[in-house]
Amino acid sequence: MARTANTKRANGPAKRATHKAIKEQLIVAGKVLVAQGQDDFTRGHISFRLPDNPGLFFMKAHSIGLDEITMQNILTIDLEGNVVAGTARRHSEVYIHSEIFKARPDINCVIHTHPTYTIALSATGRPLKCYSQPGALFYDALGTYDDTINLIRTHAMGAGVARALGRGRGVLLKNHGVVVTGATIAEAVIGTIMLENGAMVQLLVEAAGDPAPEFSRGDIEKLRGDITQPEQFTINFDYLVRRIKRRS
Ligand SMILES: [Zn+2]
Repeated sequence: MARTANTKRANGPAKRATHKAIKEQLIVAGKVLVAQGQDDFTRGHISFRLPDNPGLFFMKAHSIGLDEITMQNILTIDLEGNVVAGTARRHSEVYIHSEIFKARPDINCVIHTHPTYTIALSATGRPLKCYSQPGALFYDALGTYDDTINLIRTHAMGAGVARALGRGRGVLLKNHGVVVTGATIAEAVIGTIMLENGAMVQLLVEAAGDPAPEFSRGDIEKLRGDITQPEQFTINFDYLVRRIKRRS
């Protein structure tokens, strides 16, 4: 707790406002993920690294849905998975987040969910193909973690997920779920939704049978370049946020 108190003293009101803005984005991101079918009871979590203290991150708490994140129940956690601020219960799978943040300084947001089609694809053992545009987003950027179907409840298991991620954007946790990352909350949320869509299209194509060849590497890489522009994530995330607000 002392660490948090020091952080507050060192940073002053301006930085606290930034933390407030991040928490507000996590709250709305959770609602967007649920509206897009990424919920599985209270399972699944989202985290964001503190810009002014990269050794800490905010994270959704256990026992609530992704759409029930509030300013009060967001936890502050260190890179060993210890809660340093907040009183809510911590997810046992915190190590997915802490070990990825440790391994990848460029990543600020980590999402773990249990989406139906992505899990189904992971169970086939086949890689994600570029049968639709979302496939391009994860082209050469989707790892597989297949050590266990169980929850990622230890440092070592979290480190295994981070290794499977490598320099990529996401990891299929075989028969379990997905981990998608981003520099921003928008990037990770849009990536998670697009991956599920890409997996759904692939399973339809494979069920139909006899797929035609994919496009060339060069063609796919060009699309990947276009759809990974930060503005693309922001525009589409902001649209989904507006949809949430219109419905509430
Ligand atoms: Zn899980």
